[in-house]
Amino acid sequence: MIGAIAGDIIGSRFEGHPAPPSNFDLFHSDCCFTDDTVCTLAVAEAMLSNQPFELVLRSFVRRYPDAGYGGMFLRWAFDDEAGPYGSWGNGAPMRVSAVGWLARDETEVLRLAARQSAVSHDHPDAIQAAQAVALAIHLLRAGAGLDGVQTRIEKEFGYDLSGPEVLKRRGFDVSATGTVPPALAAAFQSTSLENAIRIAVGIGGDTDTLACLAGAVAEAVHGVPSEVTRETRARLPVDLLQALDRFKAAAGT
Ligand SMILES: [Mg+2]
Repeated sequence: MIGAIAGDIIGSRFEGHPAPPSNFDLFHSDCCFTDDTVCTLAVAEAMLSNQPFELVLRSFVRRYPDAGYGGMFLRWAFDDEAGPYGSWGNGAPMRVSAVGWLARDETEVLRLAARQSAVSHDHPDAIQAAQAVALAIHLLRAGAGLDGVQTRIEKEFGYDLSGPEVLKRRGFDVSATGTVPPALAAAFQSTSLENAIRIAVGIGGDTDTLACLAGAVAEAVHGVPSEVTRETRARLPVDLLQALDRFKAAAGT
């Protein structure tokens, strides 16, 4: 899961800017964690503490209200009575990675990915995108190869992950269906975590979320180099590090 956080931090400084040259500095003084990291850790914490997803998401977001959330999500997070609001945004898949690590089998992966999504993002596109990311992580961790997992995700979720179009630069697309296929394609064609994140950042647009998703999936097959772990951890405050360490102990990573 730290692959997702690394991607968020690395991609953060390019969000909304033109894509950088492919040899950009991975970690830079402008890099910081954003909403992707806060929500990813909240979903992990909810699973580990057996608390409702909405409760822990709200508590984490209220601790870090300036991490770059969408306006609708922020309103949801600060209103205890708010229900899901039909969102099809990439907020649901960007926070799902812990499900791919902690759920015990495919049925549980799909169920929990949907449940963590539906507390706010209950549009079928968002739910499906979250399920695709969590299932890819689960299958890769179980040792299924990149090609096999790609084929399965394409078939089951109807995404085209191999055509030349999928990695084409696009505008600032924050939809789940506009974000997950290119991020998955970056992970499926990657040779390392760093490579996956560089491909994802190169797509441009919502670079922290693209890189978060690509990093989340790439970690499951390539692992995370110790230097990336060190640089990532150095950019997290103590309470988020504690949440990360609780997840690490539970997932055995
Ligand atoms: Mg973000």
